Amino acid sequence: MAYDNDNIFAKILRGEIPCKTVYEDDFALAFHDINPQAPVHVLVIPKGPYVSLDDFSLQAEPAEIGGFFAAVGETARALGVVDGGYRILANIGRDANQEVAHFHVHIFAGRQLGPMIKKG
Ligand code: 5GP
Repeated sequence: MAYDNDNIFAKILRGEIPCKTVYEDDFALAFHDINPQAPVHVLVIPKGPYVSLDDFSLQAEPAEIGGFFAAVGETARALGVVDGGYRILANIGRDANQEVAHFHVHIFAGRQLGPMIKKG
């Protein structure tokens, strides 16, 4: 799938749509999800144009990949959720119901998060 420069997260990166920033560096931007599914629900996105983790892991430079995952850890520490624990999740493609086609990692925290995945 080709990257769409008009996806919502591309617009957030360009500052065309506001977001509540938690953390930012050269590789990533982290901001609060607009429809939180837990007391803490933050999205971390790479600054480069990648559709999904599949695209990111194939196309991104090693420095971008390392920088991005370091930023996920920095974001969790900035949120103060390390002691209580947190979950990260990335949806990739149809079966995972990926809604926004710019790679992102969700960080969930702030309550007991229950089973890893719904049975069904
Ligand atoms: P996905 O289903 O693609 O893994 O998750 C997309 C996430 O983006 C959803 O949790 C949704 O609430 C969030 N989202 C969609 N549009 C916006 C927006 O304009 N701003 C923010 N902050 N989050 C958004």
